[in-house]
Amino acid sequence: MPQKFSAPRGTRDLLPEEARAWERVEAVVRDLSARYGFERIDTPLFERIDLFARGLGESSDAVEKEMFRVSGAKGSEEERSEWALRPEPTAGIVRAYIEHGMHVRPSPLRLWMMGPMFRYARPQAGRYRQFTQWDVEVIGDPGPMVDAELIELAHRFYADAGLSGVVAQLNSIGDAACRPRYREALLAYFSPLAGQLSVDAERRLRVNPLRVLDDKELDPQLAAGAPKSLDYLCDACRTHFEGLRDLLDLLEVRYAINDRLVRGLDYYTRTTVEFYVTGREGQQDALGGGGRYDGLIEVLGGQPAPAIGFGLGIDRTVMAVQAQDGRAVLEPLVLAVVSAAPDAAAGRLRIATALRNQGVSVRVDGLARKLGRQLESAVKAGARWALILNDPQGERLTLRDLVSGGQRDVAIAEIAELVAS
Ligand code: AMP
Repeated sequence: MPQKFSAPRGTRDLLPEEARAWERVEAVVRDLSARYGFERIDTPLFERIDLFARGLGESSDAVEKEMFRVSGAKGSEEERSEWALRPEPTAGIVRAYIEHGMHVRPSPLRLWMMGPMFRYARPQAGRYRQFTQWDVEVIGDPGPMVDAELIELAHRFYADAGLSGVVAQLNSIGDAACRPRYREALLAYFSPLAGQLSVDAERRLRVNPLRVLDDKELDPQLAAGAPKSLDYLCDACRTHFEGLRDLLDLLEVRYAINDRLVRGLDYYTRTTVEFYVTGREGQQDALGGGGRYDGLIEVLGGQPAPAIGFGLGIDRTVMAVQAQDGRAVLEPLVLAVVSAAPDAAAGRLRIATALRNQGVSVRVDGLARKLGRQLESAVKAGARWALILNDPQGERLTLRDLVSGGQRDVAIAEIAELVAS
């Protein structure tokens, strides 16, 4: 018996049924990227591990536990596994921004990217080792207008993708001026309670106390009593946050304050955001997230520039769309070319090709089957119309509406217009 293979754990094959829903979301991504004035960038799927370590901060899960390492051919430099598949897009984009001297371009720079990300975590529903993100980044704008613009963009994305009830959870975690004081406050609060923390949270307390709030197992009562970053903001951060809230109200964007939202990555400053469908707010339910990273570019060796970025998860968005509306995936094929004579495949192909030339989406039956079977298979494939060749050459044609069952004789020249209407 030959060995059977299956997709690696934590990965998924995109099968045709789901691909339709996926393509709809991709079309929304392209449309919105253009409509909101973003330019496309693509970076490699793997980078030096230290880029992520420095960019994401050593205490982030993505770096500590979830890095998907890559090694090269035996004996090569890469064999030592200095590379990792990208866990998120920002570090690579900032690396490219610095490497190509993009700071001299007209500012602010607006970039988008869509592609797979990799995290070597334990797979579960909604959490994969390979997943896809749409990412938007704006470099060179301190906000808060751009923060509001991106939150509104994300809302529009979910709405256009067919999801309702999405709410932005919002927080501000301050900046280099005020965060040290907040860290101290968290340390002072949690240190005496260390015995009640998970092993993971206890370690986080030492490395980055903010991330204790991120811990899945944190007792809700402990969390509720913890100091809140919003109470520690300096004047500049407070003004920024209030400005952002005013703008969201102006744009009528729904949001809720979540004072535990510190995000997993160390480099965030001020604004942090995550998107959820109301009522589905568990760990694996975030549809997207992002925030401001005003200090990152400098940390990676570039000229300091304020920046903000969002990563919106395509897998979870498609799943949520399907959960809300199963019909959203049915985008029927337009027309199937069939014929009364089972073996008139050449005639069917010629007519199908002529119609495809005119821009009609066409399926053509190559098997020598009876008309009834051809029609059955056209319906199963989701065709809206069947074009029946009454003779082998297709000189006499009948167009049948597969939904109403009505039909009429047609000339080839009128079909494109008929099926479009
Ligand atoms: P993050 O940077 O971790 O907030 O990720 C941004 C978005 O990507 C999340 O809100 C999810 O929608 C998606 N995402 C992150 N990790 C995974 C994963 N392991 N599997 C599927 N989607 C993910």
